[in-house]
Amino acid sequence: MTYVIAQPCVDVLDKACIEECPVDCIYEGKRMLYIHPDECVDCGACEPVCPVEAIYYEDDLPEQWSDFYKANVEFFDELGSPGGASKVGQIDKDHAVVAALPPQGEE
Ligand code: SF4
Ligand code: SF4
Repeated sequence: MTYVIAQPCVDVLDKACIEECPVDCIYEGKRMLYIHPDECVDCGACEPVCPVEAIYYEDDLPEQWSDFYKANVEFFDELGSPGGASKVGQIDKDHAVVAALPPQGEE
């Protein structure tokens, strides 16, 4: 089980959550952040600091954002488990689910 970042983070990525994570498992893509499913220790520290309520425990992920579970997991298919986001820095890609979205935050 893990925490998941969902659509509200897309094009926001203010990174408030990164500072709270004790294991540095929140990685930066181009348009949103992704939580590493194997590195996350389920502490829940990131969830309350997100200003747009983008972070959910896997079981509590709202139905309309169910694709984002897959997005957070598959984002790491090629990366594997780097063991720390800060040393990796920004990753120049997004999961296809995210890349396909129109610019967010304008409505
Ligand atoms: S639940 Fe804890 S370990 Fe997992 S991403 Fe959030 S702050 Fe990091
Ligand atoms: S705090 Fe929320 S909006 Fe900000 S980067 Fe983290 S998940 Fe995205």
